[in-house]
Amino acid sequence: MVRVIADLQIHSKYARAVSSKMDLFHIVEWSEKKGINLTATGDWTHPLWFKEIQKNLEEVAPGIFAFKKSVLKDKNLIYGFKARFVLSTEISSIYKQGDKLRRIHTLIFVPSVQSAERINTDLINRGCNLFSDGRPIVGLTVQQISEIVLEIEPKALIIPAHIWTPHFSLFGSRSGFDSVAEAFGQFEKYIYAIETGLSSDPIMNWQVKDLDNRRILSFSDAHSGPKLGREATVFYAEDLKSFDYFDLYKAIKGQKSNLRLGFTIEFFPEEGKYHLSGHRACQVSLEPEEVRKQNGICPKCGKPLIIGVKDRVRDLSARVFKEEDLEFRANANGVVFVRDKQGKRVPFVSLVPLLEILEEIESSKTKAFAKYNQLLENFADEFSILLDKPISEIEKFAGPLLAKGINNLRQRKVSLISGYDGVFGKIKVLDYIEKPDEVETQSKLF
Ligand SMILES: [Zn+2]
Ligand SMILES: [Zn+2]
Repeated sequence: MVRVIADLQIHSKYARAVSSKMDLFHIVEWSEKKGINLTATGDWTHPLWFKEIQKNLEEVAPGIFAFKKSVLKDKNLIYGFKARFVLSTEISSIYKQGDKLRRIHTLIFVPSVQSAERINTDLINRGCNLFSDGRPIVGLTVQQISEIVLEIEPKALIIPAHIWTPHFSLFGSRSGFDSVAEAFGQFEKYIYAIETGLSSDPIMNWQVKDLDNRRILSFSDAHSGPKLGREATVFYAEDLKSFDYFDLYKAIKGQKSNLRLGFTIEFFPEEGKYHLSGHRACQVSLEPEEVRKQNGICPKCGKPLIIGVKDRVRDLSARVFKEEDLEFRANANGVVFVRDKQGKRVPFVSLVPLLEILEEIESSKTKAFAKYNQLLENFADEFSILLDKPISEIEKFAGPLLAKGINNLRQRKVSLISGYDGVFGKIKVLDYIEKPDEVETQSKLF
C-alpha cells in the first residue's frame, strides 16, 4: 500500500487574491515539493483557465489528468512532474432564503472535460458571468447548482467548502444554515462529505450530528504555491497509478474502492483566522464562555462580535468530545494520530507548515525561506520531513533546533495563540513548556 496525499482545493491565477504565478506548472512544482500526489485544477469554470487545462493536461486514467508528455518535453521538464490532477472548481452562491442573505462556497468535482464544459455552458445560459472570477459568484442557490451539476454529471462530487468560516460557508455564523438539509433540500443525500477549513479540526466536526454519516475532508484552499497542502486528505492505494476518479468518488461516498480514506492532515484549529470570536479592529478575541457573558457584544466598541468557529460549532453540536472519548496514539515515527475511541472516524494528525517552524528558528523571514528551499531541494519533500524522516536524520541535516521543533510537533507539544476575525493564530513548536501535572498535551486541545 502507498500513501496518496491529496490536496483537492486550490485556486488558479484567475481567482481573486491569488498569486499571479498560480499556473498548472507552478501547482505541480509545489505539489512535488510538498509531497502531494493528487491535486486539483481548481477554477475549471473560468473560460481562460479551462483552455489552459485542455491545452496542457491529458487524461491518464478515467477522470485523472497529468501533463501531456509533449508539453513537458517542450519545457524541458520530463523529470518529475508526476503529481496528477482531478477537475475541480469552487462556486460562490449569494442568494436570499428565508429572510437571510446566504453566501456559500461549494466545491464541484467532475470526471470529464465534457461534463465540465456542459456545466459551464449551462451556467452561462443562466446568466452567470464565469469570466468575472476563477471562483465565480452566482445568484443560484446551492440547490439549483446541485440540480444543474447532477443532471449533467450524476457522478459529480458536491462538497461544501470550509464549512465554518463566518462569511462564506454552509454553517457560517453570518452566511449559512443550521443543517445540510436546510441548505441543500432534496439534494442533501448527495452531500457525501464536507471540507473543514483551517479554523476547525475533525474533533469539532465529529460533535455535529448532521455530519455523522459524512466524510470529513481537509484541503488547503491555497492561493499560492507555498500554501499548498497546508491541509490535506490522505488515502491509501495499491500504488500511485492504480486508482481513478471513480475510486475517489466511492471513497468519498463511503464505499469500498481502490482508494481507502486514511487520515487527514490538519492545522491546529487555533491557527485558523476565524477560530475564536472577536473584533480585529478592537484587538478583542474571546472564548465562547466570555462571548456568552458579553451577550455576543464587543466589550470595547459595543457592536456585535464576529462569531468564530469555536462558538458556532458549540451551537450546532449534539455532544462534546472529552479526552476520554479520544485516543492519541503515536506511530513508529513518533507522529501522534488522534482518533475517536469508537473508531467510527478516520484519524487525523495536526501539523504546522515547515516554513513557519523555520521562521520560529531563523533570525529573518528571508533566511527561513532560503533554508526552506534548501531543505526541499536537497533533503526531502515537506510531508516526508514533517511525518517520516527520523529525528536523528533531521538533526544531522538541518541542526538540533529543527529536529527538536519537529519532534515536539509530532507529539503535539505546541503552544497556541488563537486566531479571530481574520487574524491568523500562532503556533510555536519550540517554547512549549511541559507542566508537571501534565503527562501529555491532550488537555491543551480543549
Ligand atoms: Zn471558498
Ligand atoms: Zn469591537
